[in-house]
Amino acid sequence: MQNDILEILYSEQDIQEKVKEMGELLSHDFDGRNPLVICVLKGAFIFMADLVKKMTIPLELDFMAVSSYGQSTKSSGVVKIVKDLDVPVEGRHIIIVEDIIDSGLTLSYLIDVLERRNALSITVAALFDKPARRTTDLEADYKGFSIPDAFVVGYGLDYAEKYRNLPYVGILKPEVYSH
Ligand code: 5GP
Ligand code: MG
Ligand code: MG
Repeated sequence: MQNDILEILYSEQDIQEKVKEMGELLSHDFDGRNPLVICVLKGAFIFMADLVKKMTIPLELDFMAVSSYGQSTKSSGVVKIVKDLDVPVEGRHIIIVEDIIDSGLTLSYLIDVLERRNALSITVAALFDKPARRTTDLEADYKGFSIPDAFVVGYGLDYAEKYRNLPYVGILKPEVYSH
């Protein structure tokens, strides 16, 4: 698995330091608000687990899984909810935890859904951001790293469902894609 990685962009330690920083900030800003922290599966599962361990305030968790309808409808931002939340969001302060914001379409859709369900506030925490690829005006409220326009894997992020368990984030060798 390590042999498939061309370059490590963020080491395990780089990521842990950043996640700690984000967790401390969120703890400060959401103190007394009992936020509902929502993990967008599957990519954000490791980030979510590490982030909430660095949050020192009372909070609740839930999980949501979404998938794109396919290439042709992707640009319209239509995504399908594959697994919905277990708890209502009405009147809650929501923190959406995302692995990476690319076009921003997935998140704009999710925010729209949660707004229609009358969430009290919606905040986005994303570990990675690819601003060059954005097709919406969406910005993360809490952002880990801005990265160049490259396809990255590791720390929850996959290529064909693999590499999610790497503790760091890197770029794959081109030959991996051609297999
Ligand atoms: P968006 O709707 O913002 O275009 O897409 C966001 C989703 O696409 C992310 O949550 C992530 O699952 C996937 N994605 C975007 N960029 C990358 C990347 O560089 N690597 C991987 N593995 N997934 C990505
Ligand atoms: Mg994601
Ligand atoms: Mg994926």
